[in-house]
Amino acid sequence: MSIEIDKINGNKVGFFRFKKLNDFYLLANEIFFIKLSETDFQNFLNGTLDKEGDIYKDLASKGFIKDKIDVKKLTRLYRTKNNFLLKKGVSLHIIIITKRCNHLCVYCQAGSPELQKDIYDMKEDVAQKTVDLIFQSPNKNITIEFQGGEPLINFKTIKFIIEYAKEKNKKLNKNLNFSLVTNLSLMTEEIYDYFLESKVNLCTSLDGPKHVHDKNRPFLNPIGSYEIVSGWIKKMKKKEVDPSVKKIGALPTLTKYSLEHIKEVIDEYIKYDLRVIHLRQLSFLGNSFGDEKREEFGYSPEEFIFYWKKGMDYIIEKNKKGIDIRERGVMIMLEKIFKEQGNAFLDLRSPCGAGTGQLAYFYNGDVYSCDEGRMTGNDLFLLGNVFKNNYEDITECPKEKALITASTLENFSCDECVYKPYCGICPVLNYTLYNNLFPNIKMTDRCKLHTAMLDYIFLKIEDREVLEIFKKWIR
Ligand code: SF4
Ligand code: SF4
Repeated sequence: MSIEIDKINGNKVGFFRFKKLNDFYLLANEIFFIKLSETDFQNFLNGTLDKEGDIYKDLASKGFIKDKIDVKKLTRLYRTKNNFLLKKGVSLHIIIITKRCNHLCVYCQAGSPELQKDIYDMKEDVAQKTVDLIFQSPNKNITIEFQGGEPLINFKTIKFIIEYAKEKNKKLNKNLNFSLVTNLSLMTEEIYDYFLESKVNLCTSLDGPKHVHDKNRPFLNPIGSYEIVSGWIKKMKKKEVDPSVKKIGALPTLTKYSLEHIKEVIDEYIKYDLRVIHLRQLSFLGNSFGDEKREEFGYSPEEFIFYWKKGMDYIIEKNKKGIDIRERGVMIMLEKIFKEQGNAFLDLRSPCGAGTGQLAYFYNGDVYSCDEGRMTGNDLFLLGNVFKNNYEDITECPKEKALITASTLENFSCDECVYKPYCGICPVLNYTLYNNLFPNIKMTDRCKLHTAMLDYIFLKIEDREVLEIFKKWIR
């Protein structure tokens, strides 16, 4: 049997997008989803469902039946789910405090200019102008995130920024937060105490067990960095018994070698009680020496999905045994699927967060749409400079408008896709990979990945036990 589209009763059927998954049809509007058998779907289209039946009532309450739509309720829910559209101003401000790094990671995006050359560090005058510009954002919530290179190479400017921002905030009274992404190799007790006292969120890179981490992340000398990072993680975890101490976060970057050992990578996170792992695909954005190594360390979207599913199955298996380990990408999608408030994760929304949710400040004062835009070094993503421009110049320039247009799902064939409410487009990736801000989106690797991930989620939640586990993740 196949669906007879010509029998649609236009007076009965509300707006929705749909897709067939195994033996059911998935229907979604902007707020809700529902799964229907083929027979129920056909009856729904024909307008012949039993009006007293549960399926009809469920469809009606979720806005799928045209003459039952509660416009007020759906409008309120749409506003809540897309609340980020109503918030004015950028809240995430990423400062690339130095371009220098003491690691030589195989997938490096930052480049590692010679350690001696402090010309690649952000100087105090640039830092001050950067903070002044950040505080021009009308957003009440301001997060300043330090990135590099290895940010701790330029700790003195990090400290200057934290103190200067705190001082400035005495008058402006915003919700000010700091975070730092570090490889931990230059961490000392003294620096750590300062971060604890200043309530800085710390995030590090842990690529897996020693043989995986050291293969991916050697020092410049080159010696593996596993012992140092794992030593610090252990120390920081002990401090977390104090509930006022912010939890250390970690992120793996997955090379081909990591994927081949995906279960060991997940086990390593469990070992250190790092409850959330993000299984992200390698992007190879703007790296200085990765191109020739792409063959050795990279993979196709199909290969990635194969291992990602293996990893997800393993995570679910662990959860079924009572071990609490969660996958961040799936958590974000689940929040978009199930939560009224949604999730305004900058890379999965329409438009994306480039220049509207985040800005990236390079060590020399250049301001980019986002950290990934900065990694490409492409002028298209360069929106201004802290010495020449103010916040308005930067966020209202024509390039920014182009990026908003290029990441609005409604401008693409995504507007017909059942996964549109849970997805997002990345103009940086599109421009870097396809030399086009408006590529044929369904042919892009990212679309293939998101489709496979969302297929996986909607099929997995057929199993009630998995549904309960996923709901617990986002409770
Ligand atoms: S990118 Fe692909 S999966 Fe995402 S909404 Fe667009 S068409 Fe659908
Ligand atoms: S351009 Fe890409 S990386 Fe930058 S904020 Fe948008 S989705 Fe994220």
